[in-house]
Amino acid sequence: MCNSTVVRWTITPRIAPRPWIACGGCGTLKPFQSSGKVRLNANGKRLDAWLIYKCIDCARSWNRPLFERRTLKEIDPKVLEAAHFSTPDWVRAQEFDIDGLRRHAQRIDEFGEADIDKQDVGEAALPGQIVIEFEVALPSSLRLDRLLAGELGLSRSKLQSLHEEGLLIIEPGRKEVLRRRVRSGMQVRLMQGG
Ligand SMILES: [Zn+2]
Repeated sequence: MCNSTVVRWTITPRIAPRPWIACGGCGTLKPFQSSGKVRLNANGKRLDAWLIYKCIDCARSWNRPLFERRTLKEIDPKVLEAAHFSTPDWVRAQEFDIDGLRRHAQRIDEFGEADIDKQDVGEAALPGQIVIEFEVALPSSLRLDRLLAGELGLSRSKLQSLHEEGLLIIEPGRKEVLRRRVRSGMQVRLMQGG
């Protein structure tokens, strides 16, 4: 750990959420995984776009509607292009749109695994203080205490007691903040050597 630094942690979740969908192949609810491919379909003057998911056991597909029965005028040209080419960044944003998925599935598996890129961005205000700023582009289900415990080599109970003693400050400060999901804009300030 460095002394008196401000570090930016960029969190990139590795695995997209998997909705549980009734699978015709398996005859039961199964988790489905995105194929990364979008299918566009023209129906007269109207367009549909689906993201194709596959059952993780039998590979039967499920078409997740992204938009349906829209006229060309109603679609942002950038969205149309992204859907047409299955542009990876755009597809990834859809895959992590958990609210969108909830419209189709009651149960959704989420995964906490993430890549964490750390970059020094300045010096902290106080000696011995480490400040961590979070950048989370795609919603991650990673809990703040799990992330900090794993990366800082501290137990979750130690983090909890540091937090109670005011040696670990988290902003914005909310109830049970250590148990919440890590989000962009969160900041952690930790006094070291305590
Ligand atoms: Zn299946």
